[in-house]
Amino acid sequence: MKRFIVFLSVVFLSAFDGYAQEIIQRKFEKMGSSFELTLVHDDPNEAERLIEESIAEIDRIEQLISSWDKDSQTSQINKMAGIKPQSISKELYDLIERANTIARLTDGAFDISYASVDNLWSFTGEEIHPPSPSLVEASVNKIGFEKIKVNAKQQSIFLPKKGMKIGFGAIGKGYAADRVKALLQTQGVKAGIVNASGDMSAWGTQPDGSAWQIALVNPMNKNKVFSWFSLHNTAVVTSGDYERYLLMEGKRYGHIINPKTGYPSQGVVSCTVFAPKAELADALATALFVMGEEAGIDLVNQLPNVDALMITDDGEIITSQNITVDETN
Ligand code: AMP
Ligand code: MG
Repeated sequence: MKRFIVFLSVVFLSAFDGYAQEIIQRKFEKMGSSFELTLVHDDPNEAERLIEESIAEIDRIEQLISSWDKDSQTSQINKMAGIKPQSISKELYDLIERANTIARLTDGAFDISYASVDNLWSFTGEEIHPPSPSLVEASVNKIGFEKIKVNAKQQSIFLPKKGMKIGFGAIGKGYAADRVKALLQTQGVKAGIVNASGDMSAWGTQPDGSAWQIALVNPMNKNKVFSWFSLHNTAVVTSGDYERYLLMEGKRYGHIINPKTGYPSQGVVSCTVFAPKAELADALATALFVMGEEAGIDLVNQLPNVDALMITDDGEIITSQNITVDETN
């Protein structure tokens, strides 16, 4: 079996000499992942201050959406499942509403309530004994974005069944990338890239006016680039099965759950989505994994300004209508 992994790497193609604008970059760990901020700025001290502000914003978002932090608003919603509605901030309420819109769009392939089955699976890269089918079934009965009771007036969320849970693992980094980009733009940063562990949101251009470029690389041969893409005020996100997976009876399963079955989805190994917002790209990349290449690409072809590239477990590369990839490279 041929196994491809897509890596996205930011490549600066031009020299910056002679321009007052500089590129300032910082890498750091947040939300359990590595982030990298790239800012184009004429004042390195101010850029460093803005990076600190961005890091504080990521911390704030993590405190809002984390399922691990037992004091987060998300944990409060989960704790109150089957008991009573939980009033939350407008920011989280709106994020849940948008997540449910994407759930409807993807016919439930992306669903924040997938998390009811979270405790059945641990994606440590090791061989596991499958959980009993009755346990899986009992958990699947608690999944369903349409079961989530939203009350706009009270700004509250109610998970009606005990054991129901929501989780933002498939959309949180994209949301954070969008928020940091907005923060930096508001503060006058004309160009940059927020890279949240592969969830990238770019705006503006490089100091010499050329577009930001990313490469999709075939890791079987890292010198070989599938294709170059210019990023013009675009986000690009990749979901892959290569970082977090498990083995069952020798077969490899990635960490994305099919909400309809409660089992990890199979068949797709990598999925890259281009969209105006990282939040949408993030959620769609996860959904396409579950939907599979045919239904997934079909959906993307109907969405304006959205494109995708998927790689199946037998090495087939499928792209939406606006993307061409040179496999002979
Ligand atoms: P991503 O890397 O963006 O594809 O997100 C994967 C993460 O999203 C997983 O580790 C889970 O936390 C969560 N997740 C898994 N399956 C789903 C699903 N079908 N819908 C929404 N979130 C999911
Ligand atoms: Mg995602």
